[in-house]
Amino acid sequence: PLSKLSNVGTTIFSQMTQLANENQAINLSQGFPDFMPDSELLNYVDDFIKKGFNQYAPLGGMIGLKEEIARKIENSHQAIYHPDAEITVTAGGTQAIFTAIAAFIKRDDEVIIFEPAYDCYEPTVELFGGIVKRFEMKAPHYEIDWNAVKGLISEKTKMIILNNPNNPSGKILTENDIRELIKIVKDTSILILSDEVYENIVFDGKQHLSICRYPELKERSLLVASFGKLFHVTGWKIGYCAAPKALTDEFRKVHQFNVFCVNTPIQLALAEYMKNDDHYNQLSSFFQKKRDFLRQGLASTSFELLDCEGTYFQALKYDKVSDKNDFDFASELTVTHKVASVPFSSFYKNKVNENVIRLCFAKKEETLEKAIENLTKI
Ligand code: GLN
Repeated sequence: PLSKLSNVGTTIFSQMTQLANENQAINLSQGFPDFMPDSELLNYVDDFIKKGFNQYAPLGGMIGLKEEIARKIENSHQAIYHPDAEITVTAGGTQAIFTAIAAFIKRDDEVIIFEPAYDCYEPTVELFGGIVKRFEMKAPHYEIDWNAVKGLISEKTKMIILNNPNNPSGKILTENDIRELIKIVKDTSILILSDEVYENIVFDGKQHLSICRYPELKERSLLVASFGKLFHVTGWKIGYCAAPKALTDEFRKVHQFNVFCVNTPIQLALAEYMKNDDHYNQLSSFFQKKRDFLRQGLASTSFELLDCEGTYFQALKYDKVSDKNDFDFASELTVTHKVASVPFSSFYKNKVNENVIRLCFAKKEETLEKAIENLTKI
């Protein structure tokens, strides 16, 4: 057969954004801010371009940026990564995830993922001949049954992919989750790919427990993060992967032939901007205001607001509003009520429908206000 991914179509995010645009609906589907990034950051980019920094960067990234990343990780998690040997700047979180999977997954290797799962993990594993084993987290609490996860482990298990905070459920891992994970991987050579792109968006004073805080996990982990989420620049497609040298060496073998390097002036601008920690320390409270605004606005409706501990996504259970499946309901909501969302079933291989949709609240207050108005009328 010609296709290597015969079961894969266009991503749900592109589909829903297109439907939103066709119907002039308020787009709370694909996760991206509808407001401007900080002009200080934009000015740095402009400066570096005009000063002539427009040629290739070193393949691992500009040293100044890698140093700032290492400093951020150390300050946030008391974990040390060598900037030059253990941090690689990537063209966004998705490229880092793709490269990590490409570098380590061979035919018949098994990879454990947790659903609802961000859409790129499974197809990428399949592309390299790996086999996905999945644990389904279910509404309303999306908890992990670690005994069940243990049951998925075999001698073929090569990697566990975590997404913490979780897109789309907004769940974060607890100390207990981490303890169970440590037990499971102890005495194995299982790698962990930890997608933590929403690490700085965690609410109600809770703490994001990065994989790198735990030496027994850090030594086997590839940690992925994203500047798109950190500084409201999803279209810049820039992020990074932090991992021990032996893992980074393998990661870079693939990275150099995938993108080789990432654009130079933006790396320089980010390095400059990151010197001030306030530029990311306020992110949780910035988004918590938006989350609370959306939740308060919907509190009097028949939608059930599920917990949102992190990320900029709010999950809504709508079984008191409609008995349609989530895909049909999300379409109706876009076409008739002019609010676009993402149906949760698209985050499950088996299309688990629990009548839940995802709304992105990384939006201006006026955008959220209009969406609330429409959703209140239903
Ligand atoms: N991460 C974004 C989301 O979850 C989507 C990115 C994309 O469109 N691929 O909505």
